[in-house]
Amino acid sequence: MPLVPMKQMLDEAIKGDYGVGAYNVNNMEQIQGIMRAASETRSPVIIQASRGALKYTNMAYIKYLAAAAVEDNPDIPIVLHLDHGNSLETCKEAIELGFTSVMIDGSLREDSKTPTTFKENVKVTREVVDYAHEFGVSVEGELGTLGGIEDGVGSGKVMLTDPEEAVKFIKLTGVDALALAIGTSHGAYKFKVKPTLDMDIINKVVEKIPGVPLVMHGSSSVPQELIEVINKYGGRLEKTMGVPMESIKEAIKRGIRKINVDTDGRLAMTGAIRKYLGENPDAFDPRTYFGAAREAVYQTVKGKMIDFGTAGHAGDYKPMTLEEMKRIYK
Ligand SMILES: [Zn+2]
Repeated sequence: MPLVPMKQMLDEAIKGDYGVGAYNVNNMEQIQGIMRAASETRSPVIIQASRGALKYTNMAYIKYLAAAAVEDNPDIPIVLHLDHGNSLETCKEAIELGFTSVMIDGSLREDSKTPTTFKENVKVTREVVDYAHEFGVSVEGELGTLGGIEDGVGSGKVMLTDPEEAVKFIKLTGVDALALAIGTSHGAYKFKVKPTLDMDIINKVVEKIPGVPLVMHGSSSVPQELIEVINKYGGRLEKTMGVPMESIKEAIKRGIRKINVDTDGRLAMTGAIRKYLGENPDAFDPRTYFGAAREAVYQTVKGKMIDFGTAGHAGDYKPMTLEEMKRIYK
């Protein structure tokens, strides 16, 4: 099957009451690790590329790595999603490349740092929705801002989403999915102590607009064992905490359908490479340590697919093409 529109995948997740992980990718081993996990657990999957990833891969490589994932896994629904698009132009580029979903993060200006007003956010998001839907491509928006910085994205200020505004925002923009700020944070250094998330925001939005899938960014759990491996083999990461899996499960119960995970994949790869090279100082074949990194990504993502409840849902529905989506939007 071709790449799937995200709207359908998340609408199905609402019906089945589970969450779908959106895993950031930059290279072949990450994609292979994620796809092995998806294939073995029979999970629909979102692979997402940030603007940093597009730059790193020179765009074409991401496009064809996603095509390879599709060819290699014909019965697994896969979405290719742009993470934190900062302008209509960036979203256009991704659509041109064949992405089936884009995020326009209108909560920040094009510099990805300065928070916007509600009005500015609605304007740019509406523009992207109008453009993307012409191609059958799904759109994720964001209201409120997260803490932390990742890939240069973040204002450093936390502004939790106002549920009333979220409902208004969805109606005014026509977004297919909305990222809420409920107290999670981007990057590895999220929290010093266990975070308290404002879960009621989710309920308040779902009560008013039950059919719109909600998204949680900055949702890596930063497992202590991954930090320990890195530090045991020469790394120097400071003590840090992520979003506990229990909190993510709770959020899914309340209506979160897309869970963004980047940091945990990075930590898993780094730990595996450090460990392999630490234990095998004579190694110089990149396949050995990248192979170990790929295995670590697979293990980490497989656990999430089970915990998010995605496992087993790959065959639940017949995936739509962008052509079919286009007709639905009209
Ligand atoms: Zn994010």
